[in-house]
Amino acid sequence: MAIDLAQAAKEKGIRYFLISYTDLFGVQRAKLVPASAIKAMAKAGAGFAGFATWLDMSPANSDLFAVPDPDSLIQLPWKPEVGWLAADLWMDGKLVEQGPRTVLKAAMASAAAMGYELKTGVECEYFLITPDGKAVSDAADTADKPCYDQLILMRRYEVITEICDAMLQLGWKPYQNDHEDANGQFEMNWEYDNALVTADRHAFFKYMVRSIAEKHGMRATFMPKPFINLTGSGCHMHVSLWKDGRNAFEDDAGELGLARIAYHFIGGVIQEAPALCALTNPSVNSYKRINAPRTLSGATWAPNTVTYTGNNRTHMIRIPEPGRFEFRLADGATNPYLLPASVLVAGLDGIARQTDPGKRLDINMYTEGHKVRGAKKLPLNLLDALRALDKSAVLRAGLGSSFIDSYLKLKHDDWNAYSRHLTQWERDNTLDC
Ligand SMILES: [Mg+2]
Repeated sequence: MAIDLAQAAKEKGIRYFLISYTDLFGVQRAKLVPASAIKAMAKAGAGFAGFATWLDMSPANSDLFAVPDPDSLIQLPWKPEVGWLAADLWMDGKLVEQGPRTVLKAAMASAAAMGYELKTGVECEYFLITPDGKAVSDAADTADKPCYDQLILMRRYEVITEICDAMLQLGWKPYQNDHEDANGQFEMNWEYDNALVTADRHAFFKYMVRSIAEKHGMRATFMPKPFINLTGSGCHMHVSLWKDGRNAFEDDAGELGLARIAYHFIGGVIQEAPALCALTNPSVNSYKRINAPRTLSGATWAPNTVTYTGNNRTHMIRIPEPGRFEFRLADGATNPYLLPASVLVAGLDGIARQTDPGKRLDINMYTEGHKVRGAKKLPLNLLDALRALDKSAVLRAGLGSSFIDSYLKLKHDDWNAYSRHLTQWERDNTLDC
């Protein structure tokens, strides 16, 4: 049974609840509600004007209600008198079909109808930068190959351990923290779980990292490519499907320890990869991470072609060990709910159609990628990705037409707003045309 939030407030000393939802662009919106009002709010939801956020609504629409999921309650480790709650969106007595959390729950219900539960683990890379956003926060973090650098990591000990301690306290089972491949870039890993649990934690993680970084006088960014010469921030997702409490992707007799349905799932993801990009790489800036030229460190760690492999980090999909695969395409701008929802829908379609993923490639894609024939290329920009999404019957059927239409409309507006900017590159290269 779901917990009673008014009771939880008394027991845990919660004075305020943050009723939060993530909109289509990944922005978290919230109302801060005193504990004295939570009883009514838990039932009816907190009211919002939907048009004021990225949900494709009109100012004439009725109230949007964010109804909190009591199971998602997280007491802010850095301010325990506040309880954070992920919410589902309702309007006129009906679930809002384009609400990202609703989209994920619907995709997971389709999986459940086939007997499957999606489990995911995400690796959210981020940069610690100066508050003005112009440089990495540590001026001495300048090496060409700073990955795993002990000294630089330990200079950020206070902020990293405050975040890790918070995850320990919340029971997320974090297990490692490191300095990543770009100057100023870090990654923290916690244990995989049910995809909805992971998605709520992913949303909360982004809020928590930003909040704790601010406390320490820095700014955290998940922007895919904040510095053009440095490796971008990915959001790699580890994926497995479970049936009757057992990992259905695991098969000792299968190639690399993966069952046949895992390969069909991968086949589905490969089939839909260009369209998935519109959701897994949703910003204009995302396309400066994938398809990027080599960075200072020597590798971008991001894919450019739709291929899969064994334990090799130069492909879109890596099979690091039996029972799961790693989807390396998504970046820091991806919506925590739409990432697993879209990959699941593509994978389930692959299972339903018994899609063949093609041949596994065991080559270094960064140096030998040009030799690959017939593999799909990833879109070169957001517009190409949106057009691919528009053409994807599989994602439309699995994610719902309301969602696809709303998302495409808002993202085309986003692209058009970007296209109206005159860049310095254009002036440098066209003034004398
Ligand atoms: Mg990483």
